[in-house]
Amino acid sequence: MVELKSGNDTLQVSVFEQLEQMGHEQLVFCHDTSTGLKAIIGIHNTVLGPALGGTRMWSYTNESDAIRDVLRLSRGMTFKNAVAGLNLGGGKAVIIGNARKDKSEALLRRFGKFVESLNGKYITAEDVGMQTIDIEYMAMETKHVTGKPESMGGSGDPSPFTALGTYMGIKASAQKAYGNDSLANKKIAIQGVGNVGEHLIGHLSKENCKIFVTDIYEDRIKAVASKYKVEVVRPDDIYGLDVDIYAPCALGATVNDQTLSQLKAQIIAGCANNQLLDEKKHGNECLKRGIIYAPDFLINAGGVINVYREYQNLDRAWAVQKTEALYDATLQVLNTSFAENRNAQEVAIQNALKRIEAVAKIKTVR
Ligand code: NAD
Repeated sequence: MVELKSGNDTLQVSVFEQLEQMGHEQLVFCHDTSTGLKAIIGIHNTVLGPALGGTRMWSYTNESDAIRDVLRLSRGMTFKNAVAGLNLGGGKAVIIGNARKDKSEALLRRFGKFVESLNGKYITAEDVGMQTIDIEYMAMETKHVTGKPESMGGSGDPSPFTALGTYMGIKASAQKAYGNDSLANKKIAIQGVGNVGEHLIGHLSKENCKIFVTDIYEDRIKAVASKYKVEVVRPDDIYGLDVDIYAPCALGATVNDQTLSQLKAQIIAGCANNQLLDEKKHGNECLKRGIIYAPDFLINAGGVINVYREYQNLDRAWAVQKTEALYDATLQVLNTSFAENRNAQEVAIQNALKRIEAVAKIKTVR
């Protein structure tokens, strides 16, 4: 059984019921006593190609949370890869554990062996709690890993590309909200200053905007505050700030009933996956409140675009150009959202489904 939370209610549903509801193909549980590995690989949809998505390491409170996360994340990858125009399906993996304490070479290599056992149906990469060195360990055991260090012929850390795409998404949202995309004098709140958050600050710092940051780790705050002009706030204070833009760059589900009643921002645009706790309800609520919500899986696609170039042996310039094109893609989705009064996440999902359905048809033609 997996526990699902809807508002204050908790619902117990069978894992298979959940796979059916969300349209998953496969859920793989990986366990190894000697390394302490407990991981779950979610393969959502492989119509467009092998399921590609990063591995997250996080100390989940319970197994239901981990299952729910991998299901939501892998589904999001299907949409992300589809709207980015990549020939990839959606997948994702989670390793249960504290990335700062429980990670080891052996654990990551053991996980790599599990990835290898899927024969390329799932291709992994980096996500929360992972660094390029971890990818290097996985690569010792599997060919099906991307975001390898450049010294190994890989495309390196995907975070700078994710940050570039997110920055494009923020600017496209500003264009829609204010009629021009300058962020000068805008106030922006960034929640989570990890791999992507820090690079995002790098872009925003060139725009003469006021940047507020928060993180649950003091060392991350110190790292960015020593490099950039930012104002630091406590994690719980980020939602109530009087800002123009809220950029969630930590974990998902931060756009929910509690936070929407506090948020003053006119734009929500960040790199975190699955920002809306409930896509329909909270996407609609943003629309109702006049908040521009830039679909997360669209504006954070830069990282997967960059690992795709490694997978397909394309050059860096291709990835930059494709990531910058997320500006137009975001604007197009927001234009449709405004014109049809439909929530932007729904519009972006529909674009993804259209492409998957069209490609599925040509795959059956002999
Ligand atoms: P990361 O682990 O490097 O950074 C996340 C940061 O968020 C950490 O510093 C963490 O301490 C902080 N954090 C966690 N919970 C928090 C909270 N409640 N309040 C404030 N800070 C909190 O991860 P990342 O690679 O930068 O990814 C950030 C987000 O972007 C994730 O949701 C990830 O799935 C998504 N994403 C990342 C990439 C990529 O290329 N790395 C690509 C697409 C999407």
